[in-house]
Amino acid sequence: MSANGFFDEGELVAVLTTQPLDRTLDYKAPEGGCFLGAFVEVPLGPRKVLGVVWGPGQGGFDLSKARSVIRVLEVAPMREEMRVFLGKVADYTLTPMPAMLRLATRAPGLGDPPSMRKIYRLGGSEPDRITDARKRVLEVLQNYGGLAFTLKELAEQAGVTSSVVKGLVKQGAVREEDSPRDLPYPLLDPDLPGKSLTEDQAEAVARLHSGQRTGDYGTTLLKGVTGSGKTEVYLEAVAEALRMGRQALVLLPEIALTAEFLTRVETRFGARPAEWHSGATMTERRRVWRMVGQGDAQLVVGARSALFLPFRDLGLVVVDEEHDTSYKQEDGVHYSARDMAVLRSAICGGRVVLASATPSLESWANAEAGKYDRIDLTSRFGDAVLPEMKPIDMRAEQMQPGTWISPSLRQAVRQRIEKGEQSLLFINRRGYAPVTLCRACGEQIACDHCDARMVEHRFLKRLMCHQCGETKPMPEACPSCGVEGKLAPVGPGIERLAEEAEATFPEAKIAMLSSDLFGSARALKAKIEEIAEGDADIVIGTQLVAKGHNFPKLTLVGVIDADLSLHGADLRAAERTFQLMRQVAGRAGRADKPGQALLQTFQPEHPVIRAILSGDEEGFWKAEAAGRQAAGVPPYGRMAGIVLSGPEVGPVFDIGNALARNDAPLRDAGAQVFGPAPAPIARIRGRHRVRLLVKAPKGAPIQDAIARWIAPLSLKGDIRLTVDIDPQSFY
Ligand code: ADP
Ligand code: ZN
Repeated sequence: MSANGFFDEGELVAVLTTQPLDRTLDYKAPEGGCFLGAFVEVPLGPRKVLGVVWGPGQGGFDLSKARSVIRVLEVAPMREEMRVFLGKVADYTLTPMPAMLRLATRAPGLGDPPSMRKIYRLGGSEPDRITDARKRVLEVLQNYGGLAFTLKELAEQAGVTSSVVKGLVKQGAVREEDSPRDLPYPLLDPDLPGKSLTEDQAEAVARLHSGQRTGDYGTTLLKGVTGSGKTEVYLEAVAEALRMGRQALVLLPEIALTAEFLTRVETRFGARPAEWHSGATMTERRRVWRMVGQGDAQLVVGARSALFLPFRDLGLVVVDEEHDTSYKQEDGVHYSARDMAVLRSAICGGRVVLASATPSLESWANAEAGKYDRIDLTSRFGDAVLPEMKPIDMRAEQMQPGTWISPSLRQAVRQRIEKGEQSLLFINRRGYAPVTLCRACGEQIACDHCDARMVEHRFLKRLMCHQCGETKPMPEACPSCGVEGKLAPVGPGIERLAEEAEATFPEAKIAMLSSDLFGSARALKAKIEEIAEGDADIVIGTQLVAKGHNFPKLTLVGVIDADLSLHGADLRAAERTFQLMRQVAGRAGRADKPGQALLQTFQPEHPVIRAILSGDEEGFWKAEAAGRQAAGVPPYGRMAGIVLSGPEVGPVFDIGNALARNDAPLRDAGAQVFGPAPAPIARIRGRHRVRLLVKAPKGAPIQDAIARWIAPLSLKGDIRLTVDIDPQSFY
């Protein structure tokens, strides 16, 4: 290899492939040579696979047997900082490198020649006769100067059918051309006039800008109440990154959020950014991947895996709603996009903005410790004020059996309906009822493959397992005792609550928002927009509504069961309840009318409920931090979850026991192992699950210890082991 990382033709190179091998493979550099980091296609047995030139070949075998790299792909080579980043994530999460490379190349056909599509511009000739429709098409093309359109865009802009455009093509009045699909993204203009900022906002922006101008790594926790203008503030940080000629990435937790967000980006910068999420087509994904790599996408808005795109010069990562649990990926590579955003930025000298109204305890503690800068926005923009929060003491309410809306809440909703304002009834449970009980034998209908109860979805007329997705029709007779007509729903889900609301408020228009009720993200977006425009008196929603949407007419939030997540086995149960309740309450009163949040609870004296109601956030964090510190759990201690699974429980437990016995590598590192025990969900998709928990003091080299601990294992048959460093959910 030469000093600039070039390999001459025939020189031996080590190639990392996406195949599940535990090492790189040696190949001869192809005709014309190749650079370190080049994306290549290599032969592997009879197949051709994707790889990256990772370094000089290892050699040590008969060189005449070495095969050649087939070709170098026409995409930007992987930069050194990306190789370092992937290596560090692999070490941190105990993931093999091929899986990391797969994560970093999640766009199909990277090596294919660019695909083409037809575009349309103004032609030279006059059409033989001019109609209104034809005139509109030509006007659109003239108005936009030399710009080209796709057929669909042009027809839509002109309000004509595509046959009108085709007719003009035949006449030579419109020109049809082939153009590569993978075009650069339109330039964003950071110097378009933004909104004029409030004093607080301007101060926050100035602080972010001065950090950015150092060109060094740094993380800022941007904590601001819902509606305080966090988005406005971090868009100005994006603007500064663009002015500095660097790229920016905004991570969002939900696809449903992006519709409104993309419009805001367009208003601020004059064009739409690149989008990266699971709903994007393969062609779109490939375009994003390539353009990001060659610097022709300045801003990407995306889901967590966008962090693994091949940015050329990533100057800023914003993690919006940074406390959101969806940033933790829990299959394949177990990583936290929030934490890895910090890692990546530390490597490439970029800035991170973690934005939230209710930060995670991790980020709060990092700010306390001085590792992160912290900026607070304490008031809502404009006249909007924070909602008043009050408990409804359910012990004092007269409830009919099988109902969940208390008389006090009912009255509050009625008042809103009379004033033409919206109410949100929040329940964090999908489906009709969480349990279906046989009143004859006491059986609760369970999934055949999981250790979980089936949830009735009346809308779909089926029972569904929320673990594996298995569904079956609602039976007439109890599957256990065979008695007919005795199956009864127990407890409320969103559908059952909607039924109660319909019966209680027959005059009201009711809308249900739950992730499973819409066939597509698009349908969901449309519904959200409808509601925002006021087309509902009562919105019944799950967790989905807690996130970011603006419903200007919403002035009342009723939380049906504020105690629901208070008592999970999860160490973050209190934190989650606190965040969720504050987020949901934040939906009320965003515009000119003040809002109110009513929390139905059987435990108004519970410290977490009291903290939610009083809004004493710092007090809550301090108490929560002290508790975790005393218990030595995150963020004041380290944890890893080990899950063993297999078709039979015996052998899985045997391995778990063997691991627990041979824990010397862990003890050497100061770590302890707990278990094995059946996982909280002891069976999923027919696989039995056994869990071990590793606990260690902060700073203990736990990855290294775990790697040495599990290395001697040879897993036979269908037994699998997964390691989850810093687990977020305990299931
Ligand atoms: P957050 O992200 O903290 O929830 P947003 O940035 O979404 O807050 O701001 C809430 C609302 O207030 C948005 O509609 C936003 O456009 C508006 N807003 C915030 N700051 C300003 C400002 N300085 N000028 C005009 N509108 C603003
Ligand atoms: Zn199941």
